[in-house]
Amino acid sequence: MKYVDEYRTADAAKRYAEAIARAVTRPWTIMEVCGGQTHAIVRFGLDQMLPPGLSLLHGPGCPVCVTPAAAIDQAIAVAMTPGAILCSFGDMVRVPGTGGSLLDARARGGDVRVLYSPLDALAVARAAPEREVVFFAVGFETTAPATAMLVLQAERAGLRNLSLLVSHVLVPPAIEAILAAPDNRVQGFLAAGHVCTVMGVEAYGPIARNRRVPIVVTGFEPLDLLQGIHMCVRQLEAGRCEVENQYSRTVRPEGNPAARRAVDTVFEIVTVSWRGIGAIAQSGLALSRDYTAFDARGRFALQKPIAAEDPICIAGDVLRGRRLPHQCPAYAVRCTPDHPLGAPMVSSEGACAAYFRYRDGAAAARAVQG
Ligand code: SF4
Repeated sequence: MKYVDEYRTADAAKRYAEAIARAVTRPWTIMEVCGGQTHAIVRFGLDQMLPPGLSLLHGPGCPVCVTPAAAIDQAIAVAMTPGAILCSFGDMVRVPGTGGSLLDARARGGDVRVLYSPLDALAVARAAPEREVVFFAVGFETTAPATAMLVLQAERAGLRNLSLLVSHVLVPPAIEAILAAPDNRVQGFLAAGHVCTVMGVEAYGPIARNRRVPIVVTGFEPLDLLQGIHMCVRQLEAGRCEVENQYSRTVRPEGNPAARRAVDTVFEIVTVSWRGIGAIAQSGLALSRDYTAFDARGRFALQKPIAAEDPICIAGDVLRGRRLPHQCPAYAVRCTPDHPLGAPMVSSEGACAAYFRYRDGAAAARAVQG
């Protein structure tokens, strides 16, 4: 664990916090886009080490949170189809659609299986050639290459009983949408390092230049995040609006060309709806014309259901950084990880789950134990 420990040293964290405090001369608001970064910030109390006036907002980078309820309803429809097997990641099976979750569908007799990698769907399809196997593909630029590889390998293997319910989304258009909102408060971004490991950093250049906003590609450990915040603050204070790379030990400017090629081969960019946020132009992936044979929506003739969010849940505001989880009236009262009302409390990368797990929930548990 030496590698991780080096990025969690308390003394170094304190020195970074002091450097940030010295650099700040006026209030600033920075958004970390990725749910994994949100969890690290809340878990290690990094936001509480920052000087007054320097605020962190949590962004829409939780793949489970932004998957529309309508897509979950379609996945449930597949799972309840006789002979079908619906495969997805663990967090997805707990997120509520309009009429329950994939776990509920499994309880009603649907064949729902949890996979750790999209490529595991190949084995499921090979083992059950008489069944229709569907992979519910969600996530950002990080997971899209593995989904693309699944399609390419299924094609190469001539698998006819495998298809995909694609619900992938892209980060840069979401950042654009946040910045374009009339009530936007975000002045700088920490961009997710793992997304840039795949896509590189060039997509952020026009956003930084045109929107006059600093963007720092940042890792996930406490010192990564504090260094990323420091770099962002220094840009803000100096009036610079550039893309900088804090996570250079992993992220190359061009990203991963092979992964990008696979994604470009299999998918095309389309306008999609984000849960709680609504439609964002050119922000999602769909199977390109050459691969429509793998589209589960066509194969199962799935209608696009109209899915309403729980009116109490303010997930859309949480995902856009307009409100923090504990500002939701249901937070820790009607909505807890055991009884979630919205995806940000279900997902292991959700902001509501982070606050409950590392802050209020832990405090409540200690109080109960006396
Ligand atoms: S606390 Fe629960 S109800 Fe409130 S925004 Fe988060 S997930 Fe939605």
